[in-house]
Amino acid sequence: MFRKILVANRGEIAVRILRACRELGIATVAIYSEADRDAPHVHMADEAYCVGPAPAGQSYLNVAAIIEVAGKAGVDAVHPGYGFLAENAHFAAVCRSWGLTFIGPGPEAIEQMGLKSLARRRMAAAGVPVIPGTEEAVRDEAEALRAAAEIGYPVLVKAAAGGGGRGIRVAHDEAELREALAAAGREAAAAFGSGDLYLEKFLEEPRHVEVQVLADAEGNVIHLGERECSVQRRRQKLLEESPSPAVSPDLRRRITEAAVRAAQAVNYVNAGTVEFLVDRHGNFYFIEMNTRIQVEHPVTELVTGIDLVKAQIAVAAGEPLPFHQDDVTFQGWAIECRINAEDPDNRFMPSPGTITAFVPPTGPGVRLDEGVRAGVAVQPYYDSLIAKLVAWGRDREEARRRMLRALSELRIEGVKTTAGLHRRLLEHPDFIAGRIHTRWLEDQVLGVTA
Ligand code: ADP
Ligand code: ADP
Ligand code: MG
Repeated sequence: MFRKILVANRGEIAVRILRACRELGIATVAIYSEADRDAPHVHMADEAYCVGPAPAGQSYLNVAAIIEVAGKAGVDAVHPGYGFLAENAHFAAVCRSWGLTFIGPGPEAIEQMGLKSLARRRMAAAGVPVIPGTEEAVRDEAEALRAAAEIGYPVLVKAAAGGGGRGIRVAHDEAELREALAAAGREAAAAFGSGDLYLEKFLEEPRHVEVQVLADAEGNVIHLGERECSVQRRRQKLLEESPSPAVSPDLRRRITEAAVRAAQAVNYVNAGTVEFLVDRHGNFYFIEMNTRIQVEHPVTELVTGIDLVKAQIAVAAGEPLPFHQDDVTFQGWAIECRINAEDPDNRFMPSPGTITAFVPPTGPGVRLDEGVRAGVAVQPYYDSLIAKLVAWGRDREEARRRMLRALSELRIEGVKTTAGLHRRLLEHPDFIAGRIHTRWLEDQVLGVTA
């Protein structure tokens, strides 16, 4: 097992990983930017080093500085969390070349799944259903127009290297497609360093259902059930739950089997998530695989009792998974609310500032994964996610009511948050009935069109 791990991240996920290390008796090293000197993850780690100025490009993405800290502190392994360097095959390879274990899949698997157009091809070849679309990135406008005519409008233009809901545009006709190509191309080039785009059939009102997989180096690949992530704004998840209220035992068997097949096709090792869209007839289609720990992993932890971050660390250290598929059991229901420092009443504008009061909810069945505390400033430079509130219940209704109770106890002052919006949507008749799809929040709750 590792002696010392460097956590190459910040915020709630850095805190989450540090907690796992402490439980395992592993020493920890945090990194921070000049803006994060007083952040909770810095205080929680055994050692902490500054890696550069506030902008992520100069600190949390500064590979040279991070590797230097790893050497100076004498760590055996690096956990990248999510975002930042988590899906960067180059970083995984650099870690390997310096004799550091990257806690995630190998650079080969990251590469195969990182380009979503390439991943689609690999998955189709492995017999995993994909959404009709282009085989590869489109070379120019003419090719895109031809492909769209073949696929049939509406189509979605997607960044091949995309993530976080960015670089995606809908087009209902040729004129819209021309605009979508230009806009998505610009956004993708700026955000991902590649303007490559591919096309997919645009599904109307699908559900987002994803499957957590876990694989060790000995070829034991298992799934930990599904998560429903259809409550989204601008293609970004806001509330997630496990299991999905829309997945029948038959669909669960088929979709989890497809996810395991997807992981096996790229010789996947470590924790990963295979994302699908499900249409109203119960057909499911692969959209992408995230080769990292995911924001919403706690709902899976609460229904399976498996600590995913500890499992990631054990597998990366070469240990076999201590369970097989048949040993995994599912109990009850879990819901997660992402608490973002944003103003839902003002187009979800980020709301940076100092947190003047922070009272976490406690009591039965409640978990809070937080990246802030009272007195700390929410920085404008990074993701607005400041905490994740998770509730477990014996069934969906108990989890829902428990979440409402927990939200009523949560007090965050000094910045605007999404907590109030969560109360509204948890009480919406459609949510209570499980009648949701990826545009539900925007169409039915916020009353805007995306
Ligand atoms: P999840 O899929 O775990 O729900 P999100 O899509 O919300 O995660 O992304 C988690 C974080 O990672 C966000 O900060 C998001 O902006 C970032 N992220 C995701 N994919 C990429 C990518 N390809 N490049 C850069 N950042 C990314
Ligand atoms: P990212 O890498 O940014 O997470 P994804 O491919 O996972 O991008 O898609 C993010 C979201 O965009 C999905 O959860 C869904 O809401 C929407 N989406 C993606 N592809 C399609 C599609 N073909 N039809 C309809 N909605 C889609
Ligand atoms: Mg996705």
